[in-house]
Amino acid sequence: MTDNKNDISRNAWAKMEEDSINESNNINQEYLHFLNRVKTEREAVEYISSIAVKQGFVSMDTIDMVKSGQKIVLKQKNKVCALIVIGTQPLIDGVNMVVSHIDSPRIDLKARPVYEADNLALFKTHYYGGIKKYQWTALPLALHGVVVKKNGHIINIRIGEKEEEFVFTIADLLPHLAKNQMEKKMSEAIKGEDLNVLIGSQPLKGVENEPVKKHILKILKEKYSIEEDDFTSAELELVPAFKAREVGFDQSMIGAYGQDDRVSAYTSLRAILDIEQPTKTAVCLFVDKEEIGSTGNTGLQSLIIENLIVEILHKTGQGDYYSVRKCLLNSSALSADVNAAVDPTYSEVFEKMNCSLLSNGVVLTKFTGSRGKVESNDANPEFIGKIRQLFDSNEVTWQIGELGKVDIGGGGTVAQYLARYGIEVVDCGVAVLGMHSPFEVVSKADVYMAYKAYKAFLQLY
Ligand code: MN
Ligand code: MN
Repeated sequence: MTDNKNDISRNAWAKMEEDSINESNNINQEYLHFLNRVKTEREAVEYISSIAVKQGFVSMDTIDMVKSGQKIVLKQKNKVCALIVIGTQPLIDGVNMVVSHIDSPRIDLKARPVYEADNLALFKTHYYGGIKKYQWTALPLALHGVVVKKNGHIINIRIGEKEEEFVFTIADLLPHLAKNQMEKKMSEAIKGEDLNVLIGSQPLKGVENEPVKKHILKILKEKYSIEEDDFTSAELELVPAFKAREVGFDQSMIGAYGQDDRVSAYTSLRAILDIEQPTKTAVCLFVDKEEIGSTGNTGLQSLIIENLIVEILHKTGQGDYYSVRKCLLNSSALSADVNAAVDPTYSEVFEKMNCSLLSNGVVLTKFTGSRGKVESNDANPEFIGKIRQLFDSNEVTWQIGELGKVDIGGGGTVAQYLARYGIEVVDCGVAVLGMHSPFEVVSKADVYMAYKAYKAFLQLY
């Protein structure tokens, strides 16, 4: 083997025989279905927990005492979910965890969103996560989320996903009148306050003041039982309304919204459903809020991990402070998140010896961060050595990765919030083209290798 990443012997497709290609096709077909069904963190929790229950996982609430072989599902606030398979070894020896995030960049509604201007009704929004704002104009958008009434009643919203259903959009300025806009910097051409969403244009008959807005409010009330003030206690997210598709003449890639990080969520979900009885307890954790810094009580900066371990240990009769700390300290984790694939059109931002290529397998990223590894979890080489051995002995095609050239930019993942407990952790996920865009692209071979990697890891002892 050479150091050249373009060496064909490093390409995952080149190593896959007919049976692995069949298995990969099967997984990728289900992955496409998952991407179309699941576009928000709440939908992810719903999907993951229900599929787990169908496969024999039981709710943590129904268990008094955990024992080896038990399969458990734990949901928190409908935006965090954990699947656990109890191992044969004592929990104090640590668990193997794969942690992914189920939130993705998108456009959220403001708390007072509805207004009327120039015969149009619109929503005011505040975008969520790192987006290039110009990419979100002139697209069909679907509205997902919940509206909570004062009496606690929850109205579930999912509008714009069915073929025949209406959608929403953020209109862009026509090129004929965009001379000034086109001369602006890309980061300033579309401002956050410009991401206003078209929701109606027909006035309510016999109304003088704001007739278009009043028409929309009437529809909201009649069709969805939503009143204007209810938006204050809502969580409504606009996402691309189009479906996940195969990409390329060879159908070797998948293009879809939200693959950061639902490609990790899906492949780790499949992995934990497919494992044999593990020696160490296996945990897949799906968390929220990664895209805005893992904040809030559903993000990994809160005590989710600790509370999870306390909950399990408590039900073995060992929930004391020492056992909890010891279990965490003895645990290992893959921070399952995507990395950037080298894009030949923009090769100047990548250092090709160390960046990841599409189809070269699952990516191990020793450190993220930027400008001197700042805020990076720099994984311990002793741990990476163990992972290399694991992947090679399980025929997982893998590659190293780094997020772009030094000093070009950077980004982080949840790894640092696992590392604080002493957990051994490294970033491990799929390489993506067009990350954070409305249509991100991955290689099917990499999806398959991520599945194999997570499955091997969950059974590590
Ligand atoms: Mn991510
Ligand atoms: Mn991201």
